[in-house]
Amino acid sequence: MRIAMIGTGYVGLVSGACLSEFGHEVVCIDKIAEKITALKEGQIPIFEPGLEEVVAANVKAGRLSFSTDYSAVPQADAVFIAVGTPSRRGDGHADLTYVYSAAEEIAGAIEGYTVVITKSTVPVGTSRKVEQIIRKVRPHAQFDMASNPEFLREGSAIEDFRRPDRVVVGCDTDQAREVMREIYRPLYLNETPIVFTSRESSELIKYAANAFLATKVTFANEMADICEKVGADIQDVARGIGLDGRIGGKFLHAGPGFGGSCFPKDTLALRKTAEDVGAPTAIVDAVVKVNDRRKLDMANKVETAFGGVSGKTIAVLGLTFKPNTDDMRDAPSLVIVPHLQSKGAKIRAYDPEGHKEAKKLLSGLELCKDAYEALDGADGVVILTEWNEFRALDFERVKNALKRPLMVDLRNIYRPAQMAEVGFEYVSVGRPSVSPS
Ligand code: NAD
Repeated sequence: MRIAMIGTGYVGLVSGACLSEFGHEVVCIDKIAEKITALKEGQIPIFEPGLEEVVAANVKAGRLSFSTDYSAVPQADAVFIAVGTPSRRGDGHADLTYVYSAAEEIAGAIEGYTVVITKSTVPVGTSRKVEQIIRKVRPHAQFDMASNPEFLREGSAIEDFRRPDRVVVGCDTDQAREVMREIYRPLYLNETPIVFTSRESSELIKYAANAFLATKVTFANEMADICEKVGADIQDVARGIGLDGRIGGKFLHAGPGFGGSCFPKDTLALRKTAEDVGAPTAIVDAVVKVNDRRKLDMANKVETAFGGVSGKTIAVLGLTFKPNTDDMRDAPSLVIVPHLQSKGAKIRAYDPEGHKEAKKLLSGLELCKDAYEALDGADGVVILTEWNEFRALDFERVKNALKRPLMVDLRNIYRPAQMAEVGFEYVSVGRPSVSPS
């Protein structure tokens, strides 16, 4: 199959590279010329483990290429739209500007039978709107629309694309279904479940999945608050409930609130859709509110642990919204760091991959070359992202570097008993705080 992938970001680049690995001929298209120039020179504009190798192998095999224009669209059997759908300022609705402008360009370029697929996360009805846009420009074009939302996670995107739990496809015609089946044929051989459904259901599946996962995280966070009040341990509670097959153990990790490029904007957009269609969702509404408050609550937790932060230096380990990505969109650090700064704290931070984005999104903090440099002379340390390299810190070195052996671990990467034993005041989430034993 010949595929054009419109939008070469986290989703478009990974999907394009993996589809070329499936054997298809893929052209990844983006409006940002520097991105395409870098990719043509073999540089990967984002940090995603394993991506560089897949891109290099498929470029070498002649199946994957990059372009700033839509000249590959006329020959394509399938055109995926994988552009951003951020929150629209003010009302939380998904901003579909990029999707619609891609649709207009596609309309001007398609030739022969083409399946146009929305891979971006888009509200119910968007695929039909895109169809109308294309139809208006090209009333006689031969094309079908399909919805094929993406479920990959940053940090494990390649594996997720190669071995997804399921693929969801919404389309109305047999011809489009055949094209989609052909595109995902290697996954058929793996026995990956493929859910064929209507476009509306497919669009809603993506939002419902993200809202449900966001709800699980938020539920765990509220249980963690109760644990702290009653002396229970959220790790045990999460394990105890997660072993129930009806609940499942994933996404029950208590922490500083969910962030990232999807859950925050997708919960807002679902809430907006629900309101617009007259079926408001109290659960998603509560999740959004609880999660917004959570980030500030965590900043206050740090403040309390430090006994006030004014004039203090805080070492912050981790800035990205989760490990193994350089993505900082809606990361908890974007609320917690400025809040601590506003209370007079000086922040010395280190993140293995986040500094480039941190320079754009945060100000007034010192970015250090490694964890120990960040710790040097600080009044205590806060763990904000659970990068593996923070899971094995040299405790003696940490204690020697800090003025006071205080660790606030908002990701629960250490055990309280262990931290007391090695001489830390240790504050975590949903578990008893401990002092050196
Ligand atoms: P991104 O911001 O990383 O990438 C989007 C790219 O599209 C940008 O490079 C931008 O320059 C390009 N673009 C915008 N308009 C264009 C146009 N008209 N023509 C060509 N290129 C254009 O975004 P992302 O994280 O890859 O997300 C893309 C979509 O996938 C969103 O709807 C998102 O919700 C969804 N999604 C993201 C993830 C994730 O983990 N990032 C996972 C699942 C789904």
